Amino acid sequence: MEQKYIKFIAQSKKDYFDLLKSVISIPSPSYKEREIAVKIKDFLEQEAEKNHNCRANIYTDDIWNVYCEIGGPFHTDTECVLFCAHTDTVFPDDKGPIPVKEENGRIYGLGAKDNCANVCALMFCAKYIFENYTDIQQNLLLVFDVCEEGTGNLRGCQRIFKKYSGIKQMIAFDLDYKKLFHRAVGSMRYEAVVKVRGGHAFHDFGNKNAIEIMSDIIQKFYKINISDMKGSSSCNVGMIKGGTSVNAIAEKCHALFEWRSDCEETLQNMDDLFKKILKKAEARAQGEAYVEKKLIGLRPSAKAFTEEAKRRQNKLTERIMHITEDVTGQRPCLICGSTDCNIPLSEGIPAVCIGTCLGEGEHTREEYIEISSLEKGLVLALEIVCGFLTETV
Ligand SMILES: [Zn+2]
Repeated sequence: MEQKYIKFIAQSKKDYFDLLKSVISIPSPSYKEREIAVKIKDFLEQEAEKNHNCRANIYTDDIWNVYCEIGGPFHTDTECVLFCAHTDTVFPDDKGPIPVKEENGRIYGLGAKDNCANVCALMFCAKYIFENYTDIQQNLLLVFDVCEEGTGNLRGCQRIFKKYSGIKQMIAFDLDYKKLFHRAVGSMRYEAVVKVRGGHAFHDFGNKNAIEIMSDIIQKFYKINISDMKGSSSCNVGMIKGGTSVNAIAEKCHALFEWRSDCEETLQNMDDLFKKILKKAEARAQGEAYVEKKLIGLRPSAKAFTEEAKRRQNKLTERIMHITEDVTGQRPCLICGSTDCNIPLSEGIPAVCIGTCLGEGEHTREEYIEISSLEKGLVLALEIVCGFLTETV
């Protein structure tokens, strides 16, 4: 481990902990990240102001992504390396302040691991760069992005790539340093609704029933053999609701469908088959049922990489794997999943995702991080980010 980082951490440890606890306490569900964005922007601006020589441009956009351009000047096609950490947390209705508890060497709080620790690590990387670098050879783009969780559909990350066409590779900071995400699992999610006239259970017996039609759709959906298609894939019906009373023919039935795969072709095949099932269900009802669908989630999977892009993806994976092993003493597991990396990977741009802490319980109220992992985690973030500052990609 580099001594300069250890010294920096020793000096700023208390500030780092205080910042982390205050960031956890801010409620930040997807689409409601304004408060945390303002906090991050204020912090970056204050740190930049203390160091007059640093070359940084800090701003927020209308969806509350916070951008910090280092080096530059940046234009839309300026070549750069992107580092990001998502600012949203998983539960949609949270109001603040979120309770934060320190106990048995752990910090408990919703969003502590997913993704406050990583947001703070990236904030401190910016602080370190402002304090220590005036000669920057590689342009770095640091973004604290919104809407990575559930219904957010990676909106924040999509925006980054729409704005900046010169991003050469991306490292996302998320979750812990035991896992290194290097492949994308994409997904498609639909809400389907069956609508019929309904009627009295006895007098109108024989009329179409929305629940019966939806059950038939679900049966057929599960008959699709997704496991035989290309890639690692899954499908699920996650929710169903419909009908009004035991003695009424159900007029309406809703259900939520999703499928995931690390192969884009499989996602598209499933989409075609699902739409066919709905169309046939409607046709069978001969004008007595309407079947509607709404796309409620879309996360792209990796498209076919060129040989050159594959080589660069492997190189980036190796590099981050190596640094992580070096700093933490543990080799992270290589896994695929749904993260902000889905966006660059779907465009053939190398991207990986690693965390800067240890902890458990993400997406539950018992979420926590191990305090003892935070120093290593911050060194890891510094090694990764600052390692790019003096080289060309
Ligand atoms: Zn996360």
